[in-house]
Amino acid sequence: MIIHCTECRQYVEASEAGNYWRHFDGREPSCRYTLLACTACQSPILVRQTNLGNMAEGDKWDTPFVVFPQGDLRVNPNAPKNIRAAFEEACTCYRSQAYTASAIMCRKTIEGVCTEHGVTERNLSASLKQMKAEGLIDERLFEWSDALRIVGNEAAHGVGVSIGQPDAKDTLEFTNAILDYLFSYRDRFEQFKKRRAGEA
Ligand SMILES: [Zn+2]
Repeated sequence: MIIHCTECRQYVEASEAGNYWRHFDGREPSCRYTLLACTACQSPILVRQTNLGNMAEGDKWDTPFVVFPQGDLRVNPNAPKNIRAAFEEACTCYRSQAYTASAIMCRKTIEGVCTEHGVTERNLSASLKQMKAEGLIDERLFEWSDALRIVGNEAAHGVGVSIGQPDAKDTLEFTNAILDYLFSYRDRFEQFKKRRAGEA
């Protein structure tokens, strides 16, 4: 099976080391848990798949969801408490397969990021433009955060709209990257520049 390995930080070929089927109990569909071993670094990976099939079509397994390890969603410890809380909730929603709720919480995290930087325009779209105007985010990060805003809007406002697992995962990872940039690398780079200027 091809799966994302947290240790290798990329998609890898993983071999099956064991499996467990939780059979249909009349309510929950049957689930298949597969214990995998990354063929590159030997790390264990446990995935869950839900059976979307039926009597006529037979078994049909959905995209594997990584149950273990959960460490791929690390919350930046330098981010302020309320932003960490919002992002942690987005991660919790994702792990529970509540993808639409996860996207909404990512949007809320980005809103918190603007507020934290003293940017409170009439809506998030205007705030992000202001963040860019003030040089807090560059063109690329503006594009990312604006895309997250749109996914979050769709998730929040269309009752018939649901966000799929791949979009939810990207939304989380882009949000995480924005937190890393604003609360870790940006400050560190400023310090780095000062240090270099002092030495010159
Ligand atoms: Zn690996």
